[in-house]
Amino acid sequence: MDIIFECPTCKQELSIDAVGAGSQIDCPQCNTKVVVPHPDAAQLEAAAKAAAAAPAPPSPPPTIGKEINAMASSAAAKEFKHFVVPVHEGPTESLIAKPLPTLEVAAKETDRQMRIKSFRHSDHVEVGKDHFDEHLNQWLGKVGEANVITISTFVYTHQDLASRAWITDYGVLVVYRG
Ligand SMILES: [Zn+2]
Repeated sequence: MDIIFECPTCKQELSIDAVGAGSQIDCPQCNTKVVVPHPDAAQLEAAAKAAAAAPAPPSPPPTIGKEINAMASSAAAKEFKHFVVPVHEGPTESLIAKPLPTLEVAAKETDRQMRIKSFRHSDHVEVGKDHFDEHLNQWLGKVGEANVITISTFVYTHQDLASRAWITDYGVLVVYRG
């Protein structure tokens, strides 16, 4: 429900939600501080009848100077006014666009060293579950295809801790830039 009243200075008709009664707002027309009056009984009754008679129309976009909706506090009213008045007219594209790499970043890109990473199959088997391919795929995903130089396999033997038996297993050696 809205309270309809006039700005005492510029006579601009203002409407504000009833919860704003008694709070101080800035007139959107002349910027005078205006105390929102309490709605009188007649106005409340008329508003209630109007609301009951017609289904509420979809709320139109707020129009500057014609209508303001405000919360109970004047601070909230001010905040709302900021929302109504388009203050962000400047271009915001720069915030969205990906910034170009600085010279420092570009230098680091070319500064990457050649590195080696070895994956021993037995290191990626846990309680009978073979995670070797999964771990290798995850790691390759992080490094990125463009940074992988070579991938080769190797065979190695290791002693099983439980059975003390020597086991021959395989691994993968990746040469990459990172
Ligand atoms: Zn005014």
